[in-house]
Amino acid sequence: MTLHQNLIAGEWVGTDATKNINPSNTDDVVGEYARASVEDTKTAISAAKAAFQAWSRSGILERHAILRKTADEIVARKDELGRLLSREEGKTVAEGIGETVRAGQIFDFFAGECLRLAGEVLPSIRPNIGVEITREPVGVVGIITPWNFPIAIPAWKIAPALCYGNTVVFKPAELVPGCSWAIVDILHRAGLPKGVLNLVMGKGSVVGQTMLDSPDVNAITFTGSTGTGKRVASASIEHNRKYQLEMGGKNPFVVLDDADLTVAVEAAVNSAFFSTGQRCTASSRVIVTEGIHDRFVAAVGERLKGVVVDDALKTGTHIGPVVDESQLKQDTDYIEIGQKEGARLAFGGERLKRDTPGFYLAPALFTEATNDMRISREEIFGPVAAVIRVKDYEEALFVANDTPFGLSSGIATTSLKHATHFKRNVEAGMVMVNLPTAGVDFHVPFGGRKGSSHGSREQGKYANEFYTTVKTAYTLA
Ligand code: ADP
Repeated sequence: MTLHQNLIAGEWVGTDATKNINPSNTDDVVGEYARASVEDTKTAISAAKAAFQAWSRSGILERHAILRKTADEIVARKDELGRLLSREEGKTVAEGIGETVRAGQIFDFFAGECLRLAGEVLPSIRPNIGVEITREPVGVVGIITPWNFPIAIPAWKIAPALCYGNTVVFKPAELVPGCSWAIVDILHRAGLPKGVLNLVMGKGSVVGQTMLDSPDVNAITFTGSTGTGKRVASASIEHNRKYQLEMGGKNPFVVLDDADLTVAVEAAVNSAFFSTGQRCTASSRVIVTEGIHDRFVAAVGERLKGVVVDDALKTGTHIGPVVDESQLKQDTDYIEIGQKEGARLAFGGERLKRDTPGFYLAPALFTEATNDMRISREEIFGPVAAVIRVKDYEEALFVANDTPFGLSSGIATTSLKHATHFKRNVEAGMVMVNLPTAGVDFHVPFGGRKGSSHGSREQGKYANEFYTTVKTAYTLA
């Protein structure tokens, strides 16, 4: 089996291999991937530092051409890369291809942004002086990504970092090195100079921690768990570096009495269970007013009968396996906790046997849950959701906001008044009306508030707030 190596200072290096396992079929080895050491990571950081001067001053047309070429190759290979994604992460092939196309679109968007770099020119308050405000790259950007979006999250961090003239040390999640390796290979062949983008696959505690501890990493963008996010924050404060965090969620989806039942059920089932519930924007709290509660729960039950949980690569599968054994254990532990807390397991929650050995779990829906239960407060990150019954819209909004998190949110209603009020008053970075809480566009800001996020937004032109630093220049005329 070929070993996929790390890219450090423009060379493919590394011999310490680890196996990438398919969660739909644990007998299937997707590939072998190198594991970087502390020394490798330090070399990668030095290479990125050395490459910064030239890359930050490279012409915008060079950056545009490389990002554009990358976008084109990703889209041209969408079926192959989408299958690789499904094979290593376990979301369905349709979801894998969709995510791959989105990665291509992100590179295309930032290829365009290279040509739209702009500043401001203002008169000074003093006569005969001009003021120019420009944006400059930050330096070496450390990128640390999670396993749940193996190609989109790396794309939405790498593309803006390079677009604005930064150099990169990139550490993907251990469970899904395949898509990351593929996009680094594409960018390398597209003509990136040596050291501009370094790939260091491997352990968080080794590679990630070395990045956090390095004074030469000028900014870190991180998506992952709250616990690791806190480590990124404290190490970054220590080094006085810029940092951006996307962490957990406990996203509410509100269903009001006046909702269109079909729209509400489709959006709730998608929010809670598609992509195996492993999206940070998934909804795990479905807050339902009492007039529609019983009809809604019955309709979700009917809808779930048609949902096929199976091998992610099979046609006809709607929901693939959980990503690995430890995540599956976390999901089933929470299913037990919910029952002990007094919630009713209305549907699913059992491990499923399929033709191949994999981590299959029937989507679990609790009813009679309250917002103070652990299943309503802690992020589970699997196909497990709880219905919380409330009296009216006011109580629904209160419960929606009664959480330490604030990434996404949603409401199903036909009332303009309630939709408008919810959009203005829900404490979340993103809000969806009659749409699932997950599923976002690539050209507009992504991010949350409260315990979910820290720093400026990702994606779209708002990304420049993180990947650049502002300079104000005064000139005597
Ligand atoms: P998850 O539960 O999604 O795996 P983690 O926060 O553990 O969340 O992982 C997200 C990313 O953070 C992964 O790439 C992981 O390897 C990395 N990571 C884990 N521990 C550390 C650490 N101590 N320092 C830096 N990165 C880490």
